[in-house]
Amino acid sequence: MNCNNCGGTMRYDIESYGLVCDSCGAVRKLRRPEEGVIVGETDLTDAVRAAGKDWGVSSRIVECNSCGARMIYANDQLSGMCPFCGSSVVLSAEDADCGIAPNAIIPFSIPKDDVIKRFYRWNRFAFWAPEKFRKGKVLGNPTPLYVPFWTFSADAVITYSARFGYEIGTGDDRKVSWKIKNGIAETHISDQSICGSRKFSSDAMLNKVAAFKTEDLMEYSPDILSGMAAEIYTVGVDEAWNNVMRGKFRKLAMDAAMKHEGADLYKDMRFSVEYSNIKFRYALIPVWLSGCRYKGKIYNMVSSGYDLRGNCNRPVSVLKLVVPLILLFIGTLLSYRLGFPGLFIDAVIVLVAVAIIAYTVVFIKTLAAQNAEARKKRP
Ligand SMILES: [Zn+2]
Ligand SMILES: [Zn+2]
Repeated sequence: MNCNNCGGTMRYDIESYGLVCDSCGAVRKLRRPEEGVIVGETDLTDAVRAAGKDWGVSSRIVECNSCGARMIYANDQLSGMCPFCGSSVVLSAEDADCGIAPNAIIPFSIPKDDVIKRFYRWNRFAFWAPEKFRKGKVLGNPTPLYVPFWTFSADAVITYSARFGYEIGTGDDRKVSWKIKNGIAETHISDQSICGSRKFSSDAMLNKVAAFKTEDLMEYSPDILSGMAAEIYTVGVDEAWNNVMRGKFRKLAMDAAMKHEGADLYKDMRFSVEYSNIKFRYALIPVWLSGCRYKGKIYNMVSSGYDLRGNCNRPVSVLKLVVPLILLFIGTLLSYRLGFPGLFIDAVIVLVAVAIIAYTVVFIKTLAAQNAEARKKRP
């Protein structure tokens, strides 16, 4: 860690309970573990102030009055449908303030045709869904949408007090010896991401498909955004930082303390962390998304814009559930009346078995075809 005053190297000094600068003698007091304070917000404020607001595209903000989604459309032809819920969207402002401009992006590399092809391929297996879902009449026209994410990096100084466990021996002789220790550790935590969209973070299916590796990010450029839509973040940078600090960062800071003590385990840790040199990135992650409302619930099809992950949820057709049961009931009654109940039950069993086998065979064939296609595409 470097001195804020002169940039010199700072070393821990027991007497001053803090870091002391080698060159100018400036002291940075550390907090005691029991204070449990996590700081670093001021540093973030500076970073936020320095962030640009110029997206570099002439953008139109489009709003969905039905589900509340707010998106930037960086194109002229306004697709009339909300990718989240399928309602029509309306233009709410032109060249409006879109908040902090993104500085990282993963460009789309999967074309719409590929997504639709895979969607139709698997959709027909959803025999339990209403026909308009199974035939792809709904959810079959996805919008290219960028999902907002925040990533954070920071230097951390952790002051800790805990019981550290050291594993001794191996196999059945393995024992853990516990020692109470306190100390100070320094670490750098890099690129922890958190979703900036409540619609995505609150939906397990959407969130899973939007997840990304930070090494896939590249520098934002307006050209990459043009022609696409981007959801405007609903979790601001401050809230995101607070969440990530109390989540992933907290865990990594405690792990750093354990590593510093050379321990294998820890418990009852009390600690404070001071963050400095906080850096954040605002990243746009590409997905193909379509949505519709059906009987009061929203259903979505989502597919990654740069790899083959995708998923879809569909309602269960009550008709398709009830009709076979009624037929079965009537058939059973009739067969008893006519005096061949055994034959009827055998026939039903054979029919169900044939259906299951046919379904499995077609499913395996489809999977094989898709794998062959994926192999061909790989360079
Ligand atoms: Zn100094
Ligand atoms: Zn909507």
